[in-house]
Amino acid sequence: MLTTTLLLGVTLWSWLVQSVHGGAGNKWTYVDNTLGPENWYTVFPFCGGQQQSPIEVISELVVPGHDLVDFNLSELNNTKGVTMIIANVGGHTVQVALGGKPIYITGGGLGGRFRVEQFHFHWGNKNERGSEHAIDGLFYPMEMHIVLYNDMHPNFTSAVHETKGLAVLAFFFKVGQVNKGMFKILRHFSSIKFSGANKPIVAFPIAALLPKKINSWFRYDGSLTTPPCSESVRWTLFKDEISISHSQMKAFRKLLRNIQGQQNMILVDNYRPLQELNKRKVYTNLKFQSVGNKNSNQLE
Ligand SMILES: [Zn+2]
Repeated sequence: MLTTTLLLGVTLWSWLVQSVHGGAGNKWTYVDNTLGPENWYTVFPFCGGQQQSPIEVISELVVPGHDLVDFNLSELNNTKGVTMIIANVGGHTVQVALGGKPIYITGGGLGGRFRVEQFHFHWGNKNERGSEHAIDGLFYPMEMHIVLYNDMHPNFTSAVHETKGLAVLAFFFKVGQVNKGMFKILRHFSSIKFSGANKPIVAFPIAALLPKKINSWFRYDGSLTTPPCSESVRWTLFKDEISISHSQMKAFRKLLRNIQGQQNMILVDNYRPLQELNKRKVYTNLKFQSVGNKNSNQLE
């Protein structure tokens, strides 16, 4: 009986996990075909909107956001009472969904208390690509998204389509030193090789994956980068990069986007192409955006 209940719980959760990362399953893909990003809008109309993500940040055009106070990310160290399930969601991404005791984030000019729903990754088959956002024309090999919903809503699903219902914290990776925290995830990759596979794991502090110190970040309003592409997301893009080793990066590129028993296709390049900024502005938490940032890059 207990086993049945547990199984049912996990099945139900995996369905929820699916729906969180665009549960539309087979209705969309990252491959450039009729189900590819350029055609998402035909099935998911929001994907054709004017406030879509990801975008390229051009640092010369970024303006100071006077309400952008520091974040309080201290609860990202919590593990007590927290439950985690790692999953290969629809062959689209690796995602860790949170349950149990809530983890909240405040500050950062988000306007309220936001609860962590899940975090997941976007990566490339080569180091020159993989991130969804770009900074001054530069893409990173991987981007991590911590997905939050506004605590004024009872759950993630009811917040998805609400204005400022969601927030995503985005972190960029650079290939270099080993990221010890990342082993908490990588050790489970053999269990989630195929699309749809998931596994409860021992909760670990999300902070272990992040930069030790956070200095500067960008803010803009956009959308989910997967269908249904709801325009309900306050984005934060952290400039402080996270290190990951080449062999750790390679482990991501061995995951598969097919279910077991089908022809194997590696899960890579799971990023949406850049979207138009249109009338939006990008803000920075820095009071004085360094003038000529771009020029100093050119001198290096
Ligand atoms: Zn994402």
